[in-house]
Amino acid sequence: MPRNADPHPVASGLLALASAGDFSSLEEGAAPRFDCQSCGACCSYSAEWPRFSTEDDAQLDRIPQDYVAADEAGMRCDGVRCSALSGEVGKSTACGIYEVRPDVCRACMPGGDDCLMARHSHGLPTL
Ligand code: SF4
Ligand code: SF4
Repeated sequence: MPRNADPHPVASGLLALASAGDFSSLEEGAAPRFDCQSCGACCSYSAEWPRFSTEDDAQLDRIPQDYVAADEAGMRCDGVRCSALSGEVGKSTACGIYEVRPDVCRACMPGGDDCLMARHSHGLPTL
């Protein structure tokens, strides 16, 4: 069972990983509506992102062990891509554990800063 949850707040999200990124050009307050099922960029951005944070043990127990990282601190990734992601980023994707996905995944909202950064990294439109 995954127990090594990251104590950092979910709010840090992907932006905490963007030390070198410049997203100042992204329009502040813009809230475009993107279709996550034809995107998947945030699920294939960094192995350091889909980590466990504020979940309780009951939540973590519902995530299939096959998708959990060896250190049990987050999702298992293949490179930067979460192992629960299926499909092709930018075309058609799905989360294999959507109903029980980690809190950080729930916090990444379409059109939010994390989303825009992930989409930018994959060369997908951000407006
Ligand atoms: S990057 Fe944005 S649009 Fe793409 S899957 Fe994540 S939240 Fe959805
Ligand atoms: S658990 Fe699902 S929503 Fe979260 S990163 Fe993996 S594929 Fe994406």
